[in-house]
Amino acid sequence: MATLTLSEKEYIEKFGPHLNYTPPGGWTAQQPDKLIKTHCCFCGVQCGIQLKVKENKVIGFEPWEEFPVNQGKLCPKGVQRYMQNEHPDRLLNPLVRTSRGFQEATWDDALDRTVEAIRHIQGRYGRNAFALLGGASMTNEKTYLLGKFARVVLQTANIDYNGRLCMVSAAAANRMAFGVDRVANPWSDIPLAKAIILAGTNVGECFPILTDYIWRARDNGAKIVVIDPRITPIARTCDLFLPVKPGRDIALANGILQVMIERGWIDRQFVENHTHDFDKVCELVKKFTPAFTEKITGVPAAGIVRAAEIWGPAETSMLLHARGIEHHTKGVENCLSYINLVLASGRIGKPGCGYGTITGQGNGQGGREHGQRCNQLPGGRDIEKPEHRKFIADFWKIAESELPGKGLTACEIINAIETGEIRGLLSISFNPMVSIPDANRTRAALEKLEFFGCIDFFLSETAHHADVVLAGSLQEEDEGTVTTGEGRCVRLRNSVSPPGNARVDWQIFLDLARRFGKESYFPYVEAEDIFRELTAASKGGPVDYNGMTYSKIEKNMGIFWPCPTLDHPGTPRLFEGGTFFHPDGRAKFHAYDYRPPAEDVDVEYPIFYTTGRVVSQYLSGTQTRRIGALVDQYPEPLCEIHPVLAGRLGIKTGDRVKVSTRRGELVVPAQIVKTIRPDTVFVPYHWAGKKSANLLTNRALDPISKIPEFKVCACRVEKVAPVSDNGKGNAK
Ligand code: SF4
Repeated sequence: MATLTLSEKEYIEKFGPHLNYTPPGGWTAQQPDKLIKTHCCFCGVQCGIQLKVKENKVIGFEPWEEFPVNQGKLCPKGVQRYMQNEHPDRLLNPLVRTSRGFQEATWDDALDRTVEAIRHIQGRYGRNAFALLGGASMTNEKTYLLGKFARVVLQTANIDYNGRLCMVSAAAANRMAFGVDRVANPWSDIPLAKAIILAGTNVGECFPILTDYIWRARDNGAKIVVIDPRITPIARTCDLFLPVKPGRDIALANGILQVMIERGWIDRQFVENHTHDFDKVCELVKKFTPAFTEKITGVPAAGIVRAAEIWGPAETSMLLHARGIEHHTKGVENCLSYINLVLASGRIGKPGCGYGTITGQGNGQGGREHGQRCNQLPGGRDIEKPEHRKFIADFWKIAESELPGKGLTACEIINAIETGEIRGLLSISFNPMVSIPDANRTRAALEKLEFFGCIDFFLSETAHHADVVLAGSLQEEDEGTVTTGEGRCVRLRNSVSPPGNARVDWQIFLDLARRFGKESYFPYVEAEDIFRELTAASKGGPVDYNGMTYSKIEKNMGIFWPCPTLDHPGTPRLFEGGTFFHPDGRAKFHAYDYRPPAEDVDVEYPIFYTTGRVVSQYLSGTQTRRIGALVDQYPEPLCEIHPVLAGRLGIKTGDRVKVSTRRGELVVPAQIVKTIRPDTVFVPYHWAGKKSANLLTNRALDPISKIPEFKVCACRVEKVAPVSDNGKGNAK
């Protein structure tokens, strides 16, 4: 076993991100040994792709044209994904922290240290003093396993996942409105829609292949309405753009509904027969006249009326939203206010008619279904419902009294580390140092931990703080399934084995369970064994995969849940015939008045600060910041500023600007663009350290979903250095 005796600083310098990495000999075309049909490792579209494999290395890709969702098309991330496979930063051995920095270790040493630390912390402070954090890029199998490991082995209530920063507002709204948490339609319904509202969804950069579906609808005569503080790429080809002021989405949805009611564009029969509580919404939205709504939202009254004119009388329609309306302290209320527009139209559960939230992470849908959430058991069951607890306790053959209750959410776990309530943490597929708001607090919290273990394939910024790093697997090094943004469970194929001494993630959990003497609960030889157990555990639950098998999924290019029996074909479109998943079969309207963001602009901090993504990067950038071609496309975060604001502040493109909030400051180059509101600046969030957009964001949480308010807080902007002669800004 090679020993690495570098300090942490030296280690990071040596093994930190190798930008513009090119393997020896370059990326030349080679003849593969085999082609593996699998899926992209990035966003929730989960495009089909064929990986070219030679001598246990992924050397390129071919389109997989038969896979119906993307029919061979891929975005810049999907095209470049294979370049991470041979990356020199790849962790090949476990690492343990010593007084001299990280040192390579044997698996026995790393796992023994981890188990000893967990035992010590739980013995001294109680079971809930040790927490687990998972991720929604993991397979369904791993998410199920992580939840079971937390409840059966560690018996801690404190397990949650990074979807808490992503999908949970929409998920809660879906359950409240429809009684089930899934997009209502397959993407193939989008081109059939004659009116499409896209609320807070930068489709072109975050889910690029879905753009094709929207453009097909447009080619078929659809009118497209985009609601966003920024003219994102999809907005450049829309029919109506509504430049909403950050944090005012509820008011805008209420304003559109007010016009629909006034003009008689309500499907009264549908509302009467299939919903509850429309009367409460009618009462509330009376005051949201176009003029009143304009005052709150900054959207011209004529635009609000025009949106209602497009949406109200349409023959078919789809409403899609994403993080733009969900990343708020009222994210759930925002989603429910937009769902009101769909229910009022009665256009749901029919071809070309429906609603959906667009999933960001690769397994954003499946990652929230199988029990890695703090309040959830497998099959989407509720950890606080006695009948759900009994079903899973019996299924796992443990006493119901041994099953922990509801735990803390992801941000609450970091807060509890701050206060000392949580002393130890094991994380996988989560990079909180980049992705949780108020990054300075996150760093201080991680440094307080008595033990921090991390399973990762690269030394992420969070792993830098670990005591033990367990070298895990990339997506192409494992078998399994993920459930795409449209609710289609698809197969990921093992293409290569992990390099060096790295291990498949789920086998690491089996190794840990064995050390706790709990191996009999985890009798899996291959990933399919976990899937068989997962599907059986979901039987009869709110999220029913019971009728799925690997071969059935493969044969059908994916199966949509619910799929309760082996002879069931799956359910691509939900709510057909106006039947919803609440016990009485009806959907629910929700009436929410506008309330301001947790931190609104004021004299001291007069500009809105908002964050989001760019097309070449994925989430916290652990993978995509290591792929040179993607880095070249957008090398560092830029602060988008409207020319009017820039003129007032004396800022030109390339000037370095300091953006400050009550939590921190960030110095980045300015990019002057006409595509943003003049009262708002935007910084993408994929970078770490001094380039982290989350140094500034606000950790205020939605009271229901506990999602943080990434999309709005108050900032100041000032020029700190002018653009240099080369147009790229000064180095300091
Ligand atoms: Fe498809 Fe998303 Fe991958 Fe792009 S990132 S290729 S849209 S799955």
